[in-house]
Amino acid sequence: MENRQWMIDEILRMKKEKNAVILAHNYQIPEIQDIADFVGDSLGLSQVAGKTEADVIVFCGVHFMAETASIISPNKKVLIPDLEAGCSLASSITGEQVAEWKKQHPDAVVVSYINTTADVKAQSDYCVTSSNAVKVVEAIPADKKILFLPDKFLGSYAKTVTGRDMEIWDGACHVHEKIGNLELDKAKEKHPKAEILIHPECGCSTSCMVKSLQFGGDEDIKIFSTEGMINHVENSESDEFLIATEVGILHRMKKANPTKEFHPASEESVCEYMKMITLENLYSALKEEQYEVKVPEELAERAKLPIQRMLEIV
Ligand code: SF4
Repeated sequence: MENRQWMIDEILRMKKEKNAVILAHNYQIPEIQDIADFVGDSLGLSQVAGKTEADVIVFCGVHFMAETASIISPNKKVLIPDLEAGCSLASSITGEQVAEWKKQHPDAVVVSYINTTADVKAQSDYCVTSSNAVKVVEAIPADKKILFLPDKFLGSYAKTVTGRDMEIWDGACHVHEKIGNLELDKAKEKHPKAEILIHPECGCSTSCMVKSLQFGGDEDIKIFSTEGMINHVENSESDEFLIATEVGILHRMKKANPTKEFHPASEESVCEYMKMITLENLYSALKEEQYEVKVPEELAERAKLPIQRMLEIV
């Protein structure tokens, strides 16, 4: 424990010395969330990365998120504590595959979920997050065909809600596979008083968004962005919630609402890539200034465009 405290103190000391900022995704382990300067979703953290005065950004999340921070803040040194922290959804399509798909549909507009590599973003017209996908799709001229990638669940959700002509890439997040059989009605039976909140920021919960359509008018099931969910939990009269997303976000909720009760919709909903970031490798990242994630300038310029287009719409 003493050693742990020493490590925490050293991280804080080096952070100050190097003018670094620590950003942590909601799915990080509690120890990392507690030491971070900002905790949030991938888009929120990228926006912080774009505004920070720090020289070094230590991104406690997965690789494509650190890449996005580098695209938005090309002059900062972006570090990720473990280079192996990937994303099964982002890996489900490459830039070459998008180029090939575009050749088959030359007039289509390419809409990419933010969980993609810089190569894929560079081939895209728009980026979306799960909370703004419908809005972005609706902003595209109605006569245009849309190629949606890589998340088939978010794609199906956007297609059903908007009724647009859409081809959808067959990609999914492996965490979803673990909560794939989640039946919200059964979960409701187990926790009859709980409000069911679906947090759609990461691919693991987009399957639940599709399922939520089956519950059309059910007022107990709500889809929120991170901040929307945190605000809702604080202001809601309910004191029990069932959360359908990666379990890491429960830490932030419990911390902000110690008197309320939170249940994960599935204990299995754990992203092992997110859990690769530890206090130990965060310490090494700051000490050795490793591992730098740098998107080459020309690629970053192209990858930035679809992100900017999204931000102009939402
Ligand atoms: S939860 Fe799924 S979509 Fe999110 S980082 Fe992990 S593998 Fe990727």
